[in-house]
Amino acid sequence: MLNIALDGPAGSGKSTIAKALSKSLGILYLDTGAMYRACGLKAKKLGISPKDEKAVDTFIHNVDITVKYVDGAQRTYLDGEDVSTQIRENDISMYASDISALKNVRIKLVDLQRQIASEQDCVLDGRDIGTNVLPNANYKFYITASIDERTERRYLELIARGQQVDKDALKNEIATRDYNDSHREFAPLRQAEDAILIDTTSMTIDEVISTVKSYIK
Ligand code: C5P
Repeated sequence: MLNIALDGPAGSGKSTIAKALSKSLGILYLDTGAMYRACGLKAKKLGISPKDEKAVDTFIHNVDITVKYVDGAQRTYLDGEDVSTQIRENDISMYASDISALKNVRIKLVDLQRQIASEQDCVLDGRDIGTNVLPNANYKFYITASIDERTERRYLELIARGQQVDKDALKNEIATRDYNDSHREFAPLRQAEDAILIDTTSMTIDEVISTVKSYIK
């Protein structure tokens, strides 16, 4: 089985790289952030704070998070409903970050991710793939960029989707998520010791993709 792990902070370009790699290698792309986003969306729909562990524990065991592939692209389902578009709303980012710190949420989603990765060749992007989900992945990359560059990229992405965003607020939100994600108790965001570090701040996406590909035999 070929498993490629791409970790790094928000807006570092992981998903763009993962999509390009999956296409050129003909393997699956698993966006693990989408699963945490779906859990965050569930909490929002129920009116539950994503930080309230007791309240989240009341639904997490029974919630159905499923990923399916339609024309090679991941669709994410929450209790049978395709929420692939809803989970991209900007307010869901903080819900996902908050809920992803909870132990039972991580146990459930990591199990699912390991199961998918054990059944087919795939590239996974997330925060803890190389350190926790797949410590034996064939290749591990840690993709990062400056906070200003990452804010700019996210800003352009959200604008392109027709979402209204204030750039300063977005920068604050990304910095808060970075802090939350790297300081939580369970599987915090960090570079695996054996991961290849790529700082994409002043690289084009094509340069990043060819750099990553140059490591893959
Ligand atoms: O990758 P994306 O920005 O969509 O992820 C949303 C949130 O989900 C992240 O801020 C992080 O808190 C959480 N996440 C995680 N572990 C992963 C993927 C995402 O904790 N493997």
